[in-house]
Amino acid sequence: MAARHRVSGLLLAWYARGHRDLPWRHTRDPYAIWVSEIMLQQTRAQAVIPYYRRFLERFPTVAALAAAAEDDVLALWSGLGYYSRARNLWRAAQRIAAAGGFPREYAAIRALPGIGDYTAAAVGSIAFDLPYAVLDGNVLRVVARVENDASDISAGRTRERFREIAQQWLDAREPGHFNQALMELGATVCLPRNPLCLVCPLATCCRARLEGTAAQLPVKLRKTAAVRLSGTLLVVRNRGRILLRQRDAGASRMAGFWDLPSPEDLPAAELGERIGEIRHTITHHHYSLEVCSATASLPDGEGFRWFKIAQLAEIPVSTTARKALQLAGIVYKL
Ligand code: SF4
Repeated sequence: MAARHRVSGLLLAWYARGHRDLPWRHTRDPYAIWVSEIMLQQTRAQAVIPYYRRFLERFPTVAALAAAAEDDVLALWSGLGYYSRARNLWRAAQRIAAAGGFPREYAAIRALPGIGDYTAAAVGSIAFDLPYAVLDGNVLRVVARVENDASDISAGRTRERFREIAQQWLDAREPGHFNQALMELGATVCLPRNPLCLVCPLATCCRARLEGTAAQLPVKLRKTAAVRLSGTLLVVRNRGRILLRQRDAGASRMAGFWDLPSPEDLPAAELGERIGEIRHTITHHHYSLEVCSATASLPDGEGFRWFKIAQLAEIPVSTTARKALQLAGIVYKL
């Protein structure tokens, strides 16, 4: 294994010389760090920034989030996707508020809804200096390359071993900075396709660079097959209002969110012009959805409602509906 002190020393010195200026790096408030970490799961940092700012402006404390209505939380999350994250955040906020404050121990942070090993280590180390190394896709890639280890990272055993390596690299005097430096390296230098080895602070101790194997690492054998799905969304307008349909409370995905109706939802609708097509990907599901204008009256079924455009910012709207509305020139400000 690459010498532990060497890796942490090089990483920390590099991080101290400069890194991306992200708003959540100016705080040690566990609540703000936690919100940022949850938003950053599956979403790029630049895309998260406006959501993070709006969220903290509206819910500046964990007590404010705990007291909010679930729909208000989801409305602010609209567009970020993976909405179970927002629901868990809200549920966990209620537990934290009821307990009288944010937990300071790793096991208690890890026990909150929606918090796994990664988030518990990130929040614990950055907010409270708890000595736990983070392990996500970026860190797995860096460990595989620095160690020149071609083990399959989709195997639990490999992930556990890589976690131990990252844990041994971790500088317990600065666990928060160390974790952020490691994540920053994975996000900006040790890139999946073209790692920037020439400017990498770990170049002198990276075995994959020395062996010329960086491009083949990490190895991931178990790939989930892509599923391609298609459909049509209808933009139905009536006197400046838009017709939306709410997903059932028991729906497996995005329960309670408002969506554009499909032709199957509105069999009596008259289809108008084709507006275009949107694409949307959730994990291995790839959607291509045709967007058409249509005319229809309010159907009898439950869950349909007309909304003024200005009202759309106040309700949770699905990402596909937002994209389709944008394509139709219906833009609203959150
Ligand atoms: S030297 Fe290259 S492969 Fe190794 S950690 Fe740095 S960027 Fe990644």
